[in-house]
Amino acid sequence: MTNSRITSATRYELSREQFAEVLNREPKYRVDQIWDGLYTQLANPADITNLPKKLRAELSESLPQALTPITESVSKNGDTIKFLWELEGGSKIETVLMLYRDRATVCVSSQAGCAMGCGFCATGQAGFTRQLTVGEIVEQVVRAAQRAKESDRRVSNIVFMGMGEPMANLDTVWQSVERFHGDLGLSARHITISTVGIIPGIRSLQNRSLPVNLAVSLHAANNKLRDELVPINRRYPIEDLLGACADYLAVKHRRVSFEWAMIAGVNDRDSDARELAALCRRLSPHGHVNLIPLNPTPGYPTVGTSPRRVQEFRDLLENLGANATVRQNRGTDIDAACGQLAAGQPVTLSRKP
Ligand code: SAH
Ligand code: SF4
Repeated sequence: MTNSRITSATRYELSREQFAEVLNREPKYRVDQIWDGLYTQLANPADITNLPKKLRAELSESLPQALTPITESVSKNGDTIKFLWELEGGSKIETVLMLYRDRATVCVSSQAGCAMGCGFCATGQAGFTRQLTVGEIVEQVVRAAQRAKESDRRVSNIVFMGMGEPMANLDTVWQSVERFHGDLGLSARHITISTVGIIPGIRSLQNRSLPVNLAVSLHAANNKLRDELVPINRRYPIEDLLGACADYLAVKHRRVSFEWAMIAGVNDRDSDARELAALCRRLSPHGHVNLIPLNPTPGYPTVGTSPRRVQEFRDLLENLGANATVRQNRGTDIDAACGQLAAGQPVTLSRKP
């Protein structure tokens, strides 16, 4: 085996079964040790000390990391960390780690860029570059978990709310979900896939084994407005989308939440609250609204709703029988908040020196 690579895959690309196949010259328990090292200890192959030195060296050589760090930005209060990575081929993606009192959440990217073209989203403004691989998705969580460990936190939740549309890369996203569940030991109930509303994706998810949470980026409750804000609505209109959500709920018994980026004067009127509440009541008792005040992006001039109006809108929804939470906005000072991920594109609105 001198100088021959065990595999040409990146470190977290292969499943355990695939890895066992390429390592078939070694005793079976070696794969267990390697898996424990990579997924439980979150260690580099060189540091998996119960392996023979020669194998450690071979693994270090054969299992390169998929993500090259470019920058790591930390919010002022230290609770949000944004990683900018370069991938093979040169494209860039971002991952956000949110630290809570005794745990952490990772927001992962599923694509470099996004083809869905939502005008208010920095990722959409930048367009689509390429799909991510399983190894690139899984490694985002591992690298963030290593960073969380330094701050004495364990990653307990994963949200597919970074760059890209997960349903447009679903088979790969699903393989990474299985890895998070089976190898990193996360509960499927703590994994959320957010979609702009790709109905075949929702229907496909419904038939997969693990009960992950579904978040649907609604932003408008009538087709006229949603066609404008979320162009894919022309293909998958609200009525059909709601049907898919209702079926997901019925089969999976998992919470379906609606994301609503609040845009001043556009979707924060009383009439919007009434229409939205009517949709939520149809999914009752599991429809839930997450209100996110719109974060600034360079390509979209309209501003976010004021904090006072956000509260009013929330109260209105509650009075109309819909559950709503105002999403705490994290990482706006490092362009790490919802919709601000653009991987190094200048997303910050001109900041005075
Ligand atoms: N493509 C998927 C997942 C990534 S986006 C989706 O759209 O659901 C994560 C969330 O941020 C989505 O709900 C998206 O609509 C929202 N978002 C996009 N741009 C935003 C902005 N400028 N301010 C606040 N939220 C935004
Ligand atoms: Fe893509 Fe989601 Fe941004 Fe729309 S909001 S452009 S689907 S990442």
